Amino acid sequence: MTSLQWVKDEIQAMKDAGRFVPIKVLESPQGAWVKIEGNKVLNMCSNNYLGLANHPEVKKAAIEAIEEFGVGAGAVRSIAGTNEIHFKLEEKVAKFKHMEASLVYQGGLLANSGTIPSLVGKEDYVLSEELNHASIIDGVRLSGAQRGVYKHLNMADLDEKLKENVKKYRRSLVISDGVFSMDGDLAPLPEIVELAEKYGAMSYVDDAHGEGVLGDHGRGICDHFGVSDRIDVEMGTFSKAIGSMGGFVAGSEDLVEYLKRKARPFLFSSGLNPGDTAAVLKSIEIMERDDSLLRKLWDNAKLLKEKLNSIGFNTGTTKTPITPVMVGDEKETLELSKLLYEEEKVFASPIVYPTVAQGAARIRLMPSAVHSKDDINYTVEAFERSGKKLGIIK
Ligand SMILES: *Cc1c(COP(=O)(O)O)cnc(C)c1O
Repeated sequence: MTSLQWVKDEIQAMKDAGRFVPIKVLESPQGAWVKIEGNKVLNMCSNNYLGLANHPEVKKAAIEAIEEFGVGAGAVRSIAGTNEIHFKLEEKVAKFKHMEASLVYQGGLLANSGTIPSLVGKEDYVLSEELNHASIIDGVRLSGAQRGVYKHLNMADLDEKLKENVKKYRRSLVISDGVFSMDGDLAPLPEIVELAEKYGAMSYVDDAHGEGVLGDHGRGICDHFGVSDRIDVEMGTFSKAIGSMGGFVAGSEDLVEYLKRKARPFLFSSGLNPGDTAAVLKSIEIMERDDSLLRKLWDNAKLLKEKLNSIGFNTGTTKTPITPVMVGDEKETLELSKLLYEEEKVFASPIVYPTVAQGAARIRLMPSAVHSKDDINYTVEAFERSGKKLGIIK
């Protein structure tokens, strides 16, 4: 008891600094409108890009798989926890991604923390993009490899650092997010792959926010840039556009066979549940079959961005549906978010330091295929009223 007094103190310190943000609890499924604290609010901050988290066909597939295979995988994949539907999903993902093979993990975070230390160790070098996701940073730390960081989107810096370091190490790995989650901008993947090839380094992209959003039928960033046959490792998640749970790595058959013997989440943590596995399979089937959800997502994103810009808001450098409404000041951003939620019933997440640089605070909007045009207009009107009230726009 007394040895945990410091936790109480830490919490109090966070509260005093205004950094102890209460967690909102949903009393409904994911969707355009959700119920929070008994109120219906317009949800503009989920990653449910295509609306697959509550899609009737996907739910049905999960229920049927539970009826057939039960609720748990029952063991780690390498002992008795590999079910035939895991294999089916791995084949499906590889085919969808135009890759030789894939390996399914229990989550995207685990895919990174399992794969990176399998590829590099103490004698190796990782060159990581400045704005990479926490799960990449953790994976690199776990690997024990020497870490270098190159500047955001800066290919000259990447070139220079590769040139200087690759020869000093046994193996090297260049690793980047595909879509950067706070700004919505894209890694220049063709140039990254080119430079990795030039210096003989492995290339690795985390496409968590590109899955289901970029490329033909949402095949992701490698398909978008036409580098599926040149990238060494494409990693992704099933928890965002794909609507369920789990992560994966796609690449060569050798890579996948090797990871099955090395990746610790595969060897030491139970396999993905049958219900989730079947849900993901169905979601990918839906994406392959028709791209109307994808088109609706992009239409909504375009409308939202154009309307926000037309009333004077700055939406930064986004190239994807991720729509950052740049405010700058931290306090003003928190106030705007509060006004939107309390007065306008728009639920949108404030993103402040240290998640983004000081003075680059913003509200990040995530339009989706389940939003209607009315929902987008509703959001813009709410921003207009609130932005004027706070003097952010005129
Ligand atoms: C969300 C995210 C992850 C983690 O995926 P989960 O499946 O939710 O664990 C990894 N990398 C990036 C870039 C992400 O945005």
